[in-house]
Amino acid sequence: MGLAYPRGMERISIPALGKRVQSEADAYEFMEEMRWAGQPVCPHCGSVREHYFLTPKAEAGRATRRGKVSERRVWKCAACRRQFSVLTGTVMHSSKIPVKTWLFVIVEICSSKNGVSAREIQRKYELTPKTAWHMLHRLREAMKRGDAFQPMTGTIVADEAYIGGQSRRKYGHLRADIEHIVPAKAVVFTLINAESGEARSKVVPNVKGDTLWSAIRAQVDMPNSRLMTDESMSYRGVGREFGLGHDSVTHNLGEYVRGDVSTNRAENYFGQLKRSIDGTFHKVSHEHLDRYLAEFDFRYSTRKLTDTQRVYRLMGQVAGRRLAYRPLTNP
Ligand SMILES: [Zn+2]
Repeated sequence: MGLAYPRGMERISIPALGKRVQSEADAYEFMEEMRWAGQPVCPHCGSVREHYFLTPKAEAGRATRRGKVSERRVWKCAACRRQFSVLTGTVMHSSKIPVKTWLFVIVEICSSKNGVSAREIQRKYELTPKTAWHMLHRLREAMKRGDAFQPMTGTIVADEAYIGGQSRRKYGHLRADIEHIVPAKAVVFTLINAESGEARSKVVPNVKGDTLWSAIRAQVDMPNSRLMTDESMSYRGVGREFGLGHDSVTHNLGEYVRGDVSTNRAENYFGQLKRSIDGTFHKVSHEHLDRYLAEFDFRYSTRKLTDTQRVYRLMGQVAGRRLAYRPLTNP
């Protein structure tokens, strides 16, 4: 699946977007260029036949509740006669947030190293706290998709860490910045593919062998992979299912690297996760932690990409995978 680069936007940044996208109609056009390369694809039937563009004027009665004429660009399919916009079938569908705001927030998320907080988005784009929060969670939902349906194959580093659990009072003076509260420590389990750099993490109830075994089995092509862990007993059983072997370093004896064996990738991942939760989010509830992990996995897995490539990756996931796309055409 490919997305097209809108005219003159081979490099996407907030200032460049600001110049190009000033009105809501601009934002629709930008999104259309990105997704359709100038030729709309009907999300209902997949038709790329000529579509009718219903301009706001053609639909004079379609004013918004505030009395403004809508700048929404709506198309009508020549094949199935149904209406659609560039948002149909995406996580932005039926959202009351302007498309322009979505675009800017997507670029913000993709160009920040530690993520953006709902409070920051709320202030910058004049949203209600609830809207800002909801928007970020929808985008995190989109980050969850990606390649997560394919099993991981290669050298897999597995490790677990405890996140959260600070007292509520300690951060009491920062209440306005607190998005969520972690009442107790949560166990986060992560798998990192040493070759591709991809990370997949989730909250697990405990660090028992059976728990980690099923978490690994769900994600990894074990017969064709190699496992790297610390000396924890929990990995002994599952390690035997790895066709290319199981190696471990003994942290208790101060051994962190032996030959090509180490869990440093996971240590780095957790280090960054903890710093970001402390610095940006302050607190994350258990129920939302999985979505934050999706964001961190996305950021970690795309860390070698440019900001622009990351925007395109996320935009593809935001748009969903059920839709037909024209192949990527570079201008
Ligand atoms: Zn159609």
